[in-house]
Amino acid sequence: MIGIIDIHCHLTFEQYDEDREQVIKDAKKVLKGVVTSGVEAEDAKHALELAEMHESFVFVTPGLHPIHVVGKTDQEIGEYEEFISENKRKIVGIGEIGLDYHWVRDPLKIKRTKEVFVEFLELSQELDLPVVLHLRGEGAGTEAIEEGLKIVSDEDIRKAVFHCFTGKPQLAELICEEEYYISLPASIVRSKSMKKVAKRIPLSLLLTETDAPYLSPTEEERNVPQHVKVVYEEIARQRRIDVRVAEEEIERNFERLFKVVLR
Ligand SMILES: [Zn+2]
Repeated sequence: MIGIIDIHCHLTFEQYDEDREQVIKDAKKVLKGVVTSGVEAEDAKHALELAEMHESFVFVTPGLHPIHVVGKTDQEIGEYEEFISENKRKIVGIGEIGLDYHWVRDPLKIKRTKEVFVEFLELSQELDLPVVLHLRGEGAGTEAIEEGLKIVSDEDIRKAVFHCFTGKPQLAELICEEEYYISLPASIVRSKSMKKVAKRIPLSLLLTETDAPYLSPTEEERNVPQHVKVVYEEIARQRRIDVRVAEEEIERNFERLFKVVLR
């Protein structure tokens, strides 16, 4: 059976503390798989617990979000990397990792986030896992994406997804030339540029996500994984294809990138 997938959300976040199990139960009715992303060590541990409770449905990519890099010591980061290596078989990728010029603006802090970003990229190579990239901010909002693209390609990373892609279609095309994936969120319903990306890049490199609890299609309410449905609908509309075709291809993309076989 074909189904829809959310390749990036945060089921561990406090927004779900009251009703997390219900949210996952509801997601199971509509989705085939969900990837919950760890933003730092404690969060990643929590994510692994959820994956254990919901085997073959909740998958985990532990990462270190750039806003959480600042303030962590080398030792803390080293221990976390060790934890990730030890749990290699329980995870499907590393992320989110990357650059965030919206929140991290101090040059010294930027330097530090870049160093740690590269460290995690190297870890992903060691463990032979794909990376989920968070690249946000500055110069028309795309400087981080451009720099991130250069870093991953210089580091010779072969498997990567640019999560919640907010750049221009031309930049998306450059990313796809390197055979990296692009993931579009449910906020696509409000974004002309994301719609163009959905239309222009190869379907074989497209993925779908919510970044829930953030980026809800209706802005004010809490986002949930099943809202990923609107991304599929928009992709189908933009490409003038049947939504089933989009589902089938994106499921294949997901299985190829994360080396997961869905039920
Ligand atoms: Zn995220």
